Amino acid sequence: MPTQPTLFLSHGAPDLILHPEDPAHAFLTALGTTMTRPRAIVVASAHWETRILAVEHGTRPRTIHDFSGFPAALYQRRYPAPGNPALADQLCDLLADWHPVPQERGYDHGVWAPLSLMFPAADIPVVAVSLLHGADGAEHLRLGQALESLRHDNVLVIGSGSATHNLGALRHGPPPLWVTAFDDWLAKTAEQGDTKALANYRTLAPHARENHPSEEHLLPLLVALGAAGPGAKGKALHRGIAYGVLSMTAFAFTTGAA
Ligand code: ZN
Repeated sequence: MPTQPTLFLSHGAPDLILHPEDPAHAFLTALGTTMTRPRAIVVASAHWETRILAVEHGTRPRTIHDFSGFPAALYQRRYPAPGNPALADQLCDLLADWHPVPQERGYDHGVWAPLSLMFPAADIPVVAVSLLHGADGAEHLRLGQALESLRHDNVLVIGSGSATHNLGALRHGPPPLWVTAFDDWLAKTAEQGDTKALANYRTLAPHARENHPSEEHLLPLLVALGAAGPGAKGKALHRGIAYGVLSMTAFAFTTGAA
């Protein structure tokens, strides 16, 4: 059974999928063709936060267009990948400490937008898991750690968020220092495998609060890191900054063994 890395993906603006000229679009498309095909995919998305942990349990989850003000073509897009209730049950067991509830919600754009580039055939089952509203980086790391066995069973665990995410600061022109300093810290710390520092990024990283006024777009990184297992290190697969402040940095996390 192949072992998968875990991934943290910056999903960018919802209309990234309509822009093949964007380097992040090209990256995600290429990533799907170079990976060992997983038997299933688990995604923790920034766009699903709950007070009680939730796991998508549907057999045919719908595509949720959870954004407004984008071109009509985007609202016609569907990602018809099947769910996997058996895997959802397994997730509920692995995450039993958090007493997760099965739900039939559908795929938010943090789930379906990157997957529609990576695996456009939509023929690999997907199970979404929520983030825990109000829980910090350390807790999301533990949550990821509970999922470690999945990657050894050819399940791809993805954290889908954004390496930086201050939507109030979008601009034209080169990225300001407060963005690049944070993004560089994240890449360096992930590559060093400094799990403790990443879990405490909010106090240790430069300009953490400026880049993440709220935490939900970075917390998926902690889930992916935890799910890679003890001693995991990150490798930046892609780097780039969109709209002046929105880092598109993506990581694969693996241990030395796999
Ligand atoms: Zn987002």
